[in-house]
Amino acid sequence: MGKLYIVATPIGNLEDITLRAINVLKNVDLIAAEDTRHTLKLLNHFEISKPLISNHRHNEDEKTNILIEKLKEGLDIALVSDAGTPGICDPGEAIIKKCIEEQIEVIPIPGACAMINALIASGIDTKEFVFLGFLPLNKKTRKEKLEEIKASKKTIILYEAPHKLLSTLKDLKEILENRQVVLARELTKIHEEFIRGNIEEIIKVSENLKGEMVLIIEKNNKIEEKNNFENLTLEEHYKLYENQGLQKKEIIKKIAKDRGLNKNEIYQKFV
Ligand code: SAM
Repeated sequence: MGKLYIVATPIGNLEDITLRAINVLKNVDLIAAEDTRHTLKLLNHFEISKPLISNHRHNEDEKTNILIEKLKEGLDIALVSDAGTPGICDPGEAIIKKCIEEQIEVIPIPGACAMINALIASGIDTKEFVFLGFLPLNKKTRKEKLEEIKASKKTIILYEAPHKLLSTLKDLKEILENRQVVLARELTKIHEEFIRGNIEEIIKVSENLKGEMVLIIEKNNKIEEKNNFENLTLEEHYKLYENQGLQKKEIIKKIAKDRGLNKNEIYQKFV
């Protein structure tokens, strides 16, 4: 049995390929590429000469079967996409799932991935995040995703094409109002740029922006506050405001608002 290596390639700067990735590409029997012409340029740059086979979105099922046969014959195969990590908004899932089914070893070769690099330099919370890829174009599913973003207590990461950026930002503005966003553009390239601000500010400067981009969206802090309050007992919640010097009437009004309860209900507990 051969092995399938999932090899990450640069997302702009060619120096972002690892020594291990180069060695794997040099040593496998075959390279399955999203676009063979694109990958050929990368291989030429590193003076690697290997047979290439195309594996793109539109022929993935058919190519998966061919690749599995070759792996079963004992060939080692490297899977690459046009840029970054295969399987992340790029072909890869189908062959990887099939390999696992067929008990063929799958070996990740780490490297560049746009979403991770946008996130780590964004300055927005990295503890917990959700990657949603490209927002769907279908009206209904798009609305559902936007609602998911609105409610998310985790940082959201989106990919977007430059010609759709403005309409996506306007949709976000409509549903999220003015949350903090970071637009990471042309990562690892000469014109790499991070534009930070609220959605309205980003809209103002994004009219003619070109290049590849990632959007990092701050989590919904309001929900977190509410949830934190819900973690308190009523007495603790009361004490919190009392310590801030508030009067009983005002405290009860605030607790009712924080917990989404009726004022009278809370009043009963503190008579
Ligand atoms: N597999 C890739 C990865 O690991 O990031 C993603 C491929 S997806 C088809 C292409 C999208 O990734 C672009 O539309 C953009 O949102 C993002 N992207 C890729 N390269 C980028 C770069 N250098 N700077 C910013 N975003 C990039």
